[in-house]
Amino acid sequence: MNKSMETPVEPQRLTPMMAQYFEIKTANPDCLLFYRMGDFYELFFEDAEIASRALGIVLTRRGKHDGEDIRMCGVPIERADDYLQRLIALGHRVAVCEQLEDPAEAKRRGPKSVVRRDVVRLVTPGTITEERLLEPGRANLLLAIQRAKADGRAAFGLASLDISTGAFTLSETDEAGLAVEIARLEPSEIVAPESLFAEPKFARLVAEARVAAAPIGREAAEAGAEQRICEFYGVETLDGFGAFSRAEIGAAALALAYVKRTQIDATPGLAPPSRRAGGSSLEIDAATRANLELTRTLAGERAGSVLATIDLTKTPAGARLIAERLASPLTDSAEIAERLDALAFFIEAPALREELRKSLAATPDFLRALARLSLDRGGPRDLAALREGLTASAAVAERLDGAGVLPPALRQAFARLRRGDGILARDLGDALAEELPLNKRDGGFVRAGASEALDEARRLRDESRRVVAEMQARYAEEAGSKQLKIKHNNFLGFYIETPQAAGEALLKPPHSATFIHRQTMAGAMRFTTNALIDLEARIASAADRALALELEMFERLRQACLAQTEVLRGLGAALAEIDVSAGLAELAVKRDWTRPHVDASLKFAIEGGRHPVVEAALSTRGEPFVANDCDLTGLLGEGGRIALVTGPNMAGKSTFLRQNALIAALAQMGSYVPAKRAHIGVVDRLFSRVGAADDLARGRSTFMVEMVETAAILNQATERSLVILDEIGRGTATFDGLSIAYACVEHLNDVNRSRTLFATHFHELTQLSQTLPRLFNLTMRVREWKGSLVFLHEVAPGAADRSYGIQVARLAGLPTSVIKRARSVLADLEATKASGRVDALPLFSYEPPSPEPPPDPVREALDKIDPDALSPREGHAALYELKRLAKGPQ
Ligand code: ADP
Repeated sequence: MNKSMETPVEPQRLTPMMAQYFEIKTANPDCLLFYRMGDFYELFFEDAEIASRALGIVLTRRGKHDGEDIRMCGVPIERADDYLQRLIALGHRVAVCEQLEDPAEAKRRGPKSVVRRDVVRLVTPGTITEERLLEPGRANLLLAIQRAKADGRAAFGLASLDISTGAFTLSETDEAGLAVEIARLEPSEIVAPESLFAEPKFARLVAEARVAAAPIGREAAEAGAEQRICEFYGVETLDGFGAFSRAEIGAAALALAYVKRTQIDATPGLAPPSRRAGGSSLEIDAATRANLELTRTLAGERAGSVLATIDLTKTPAGARLIAERLASPLTDSAEIAERLDALAFFIEAPALREELRKSLAATPDFLRALARLSLDRGGPRDLAALREGLTASAAVAERLDGAGVLPPALRQAFARLRRGDGILARDLGDALAEELPLNKRDGGFVRAGASEALDEARRLRDESRRVVAEMQARYAEEAGSKQLKIKHNNFLGFYIETPQAAGEALLKPPHSATFIHRQTMAGAMRFTTNALIDLEARIASAADRALALELEMFERLRQACLAQTEVLRGLGAALAEIDVSAGLAELAVKRDWTRPHVDASLKFAIEGGRHPVVEAALSTRGEPFVANDCDLTGLLGEGGRIALVTGPNMAGKSTFLRQNALIAALAQMGSYVPAKRAHIGVVDRLFSRVGAADDLARGRSTFMVEMVETAAILNQATERSLVILDEIGRGTATFDGLSIAYACVEHLNDVNRSRTLFATHFHELTQLSQTLPRLFNLTMRVREWKGSLVFLHEVAPGAADRSYGIQVARLAGLPTSVIKRARSVLADLEATKASGRVDALPLFSYEPPSPEPPPDPVREALDKIDPDALSPREGHAALYELKRLAKGPQ
């Protein structure tokens, strides 16, 4: 972000326009300033350089400032959205500065006066509403964070706000939960007091989440927070919205302050804040989310993520809701069952599901259209989107009406749909034309017949055009010139143009009584007549009047829609709910998923579980996925069990671990699961330590990342948690690693007592099953066939007999000589082990084998000699050479 302001200058040396520019720029130092000049937004100085580099547009110069050229670049108004999108994506903020009056008005004030301009809006990543700037299937959240002291401890209030749909949610967390919440919400921008950003810990948290940061100064004051929220909603007290903590109210006020700062005079419609109770969703930290590739793959792509695999929704609002549900699975088994009931209903009703999904597919993203209208940034197509949303809602409601007894979640959706306003839909339908312009200023969006006054004005306008044509024919005849034309330009308005010779004749009587000379051009002359001037005025006023009437109509319809905001939001929520339920039902049927049984127990019993993404990938290649069971249920009151999974690389350990974590997350989001049977006692937190990537940007090695993540698990996991650990202790020397893994397993067994899957290469650990009651061994079955390995991807009780590392290395194509050598080293090592020097853990005292004896030069030389190939003379020489070697170096 370019914070620096260019050289302060003495005002007297500035042109009035530049003085205005500097004044506005100084007030918005952390934004690129789009300064409106006619049909362009211009950027100057450093802004121009940044923008020209980012957008690949030409940097030009305009006059001098302080003896130096003023660097400048511009973007045309009609393409501004594209450029904005790119700048926002790069993390810039843009202040859009418009002309607030007609340049002619400024001129009237005096030759030196400048057009009045001011910033009308700050465009920032978390506050955009334009369709082209937003991703359809992704919420665009602004997250405001405010800290407050509660019972002597720091509490963090979180307000997450999606201006593009009006959703507004408050919650509270503690310092440890902050990172988890940021990972869950994936905001586009974080707003917090400057003082909070000044703390390195907080600043690092935001930087690591790679979210745009918006520090706020003055407006961040906590005083009067509640009052400010009340003012925004026009209510006396917040009691009607629910009970909120101080931190939550502070965060909400901060969010609203930022909305005001960025939207300036426009006020978006926001739903009243709703509160999300702590602990209501399955906690998944950022590393686990990334490892499980919930919404994005490790490479950052959406394709190939769990979300992309399960999302069969038909609408953008549905896509946003399913993403939200996957990001925040529930912990209340009753709520989960309610969602599952809705799926079950749609599974049982395939024809209904199909029909509803068809209706949904044709439904536009009308909540975002509504948000644009509320900010007065909407156009005729947004009105049409609302009309279509209303029509679709009515169609869906009608179809559900005869669909029998609905489960509670759908009953509620149905009730909302029935509130849809038929009158508004009809008004919009009656008013809007078939083809709609993007911009209301272009006019032509009101259907003929919708308004008598408008029809009249349009008739006059269009008729006048016909009159112009008649007039041209008449004048051409009078002047005796077929080339006489009536033309129009912005400077002259309508005018008559003739070739030079014909024009000369018009200057003389009798023509001069009618034709008034305007201009002489090269080879042509231009005239007007009183009749033409009259006509022009009539046409202009008719066109103006038509447009004014259309805009009036637009405003009336806009207000009518805004008056129905709450109902429309209800329709949006209901359709999204139906879309998600029907989409997940479709998925369950297509992929043969089953309804999980989720309750308050501590069970974890999966029969025939599969990994949704790996299975989908394999099926495109026609390969089967091998289903596997997993039972981590402990004895009553004992907490969960720990499965220690061994097996060679590539055997499917990671897949097995992840699939069980995913089945838990899917079940708790209210989806069916890829398994034959699943019984899960609600999981409160999901922990994983899977795979490892160096995080050099943060200055942490693979091993450090691994240990930080492991520490988090050992310190936080409880009986209710589900833990998956892959390869603890690999990033360091064998002894350290094994010792650490060993101690971790013990801790998990004794202290955490979580349901745990632990994959490891340390076979020594499998012996722990004899001493740790909660631990049992699982192994990935493989078969050796002609010296090669066949992976069966089958999980079986017991421990792997060995790691097959060399076979896997061979499959990977390591040179034969290296494989051979590795085999011989392994044989040596195993012989050493068999000799009894490596004992049961933890007393093992593994020692490296003694170094191989150095090569014997005499032997090597002898090996090279082929007696049959030597002449007697050469044989003689070789003997001398051997004697010399035997003596050793002198
Ligand atoms: P590991 O963690 O043991 O090295 P992975 O879990 O990464 O092994 O699995 C390696 C590959 O084996 C996967 O990419 C997948 O193609 C295949 N695979 C894993 N599990 C199964 C399974 N249950 N059925 C079929 N193929 C599987």
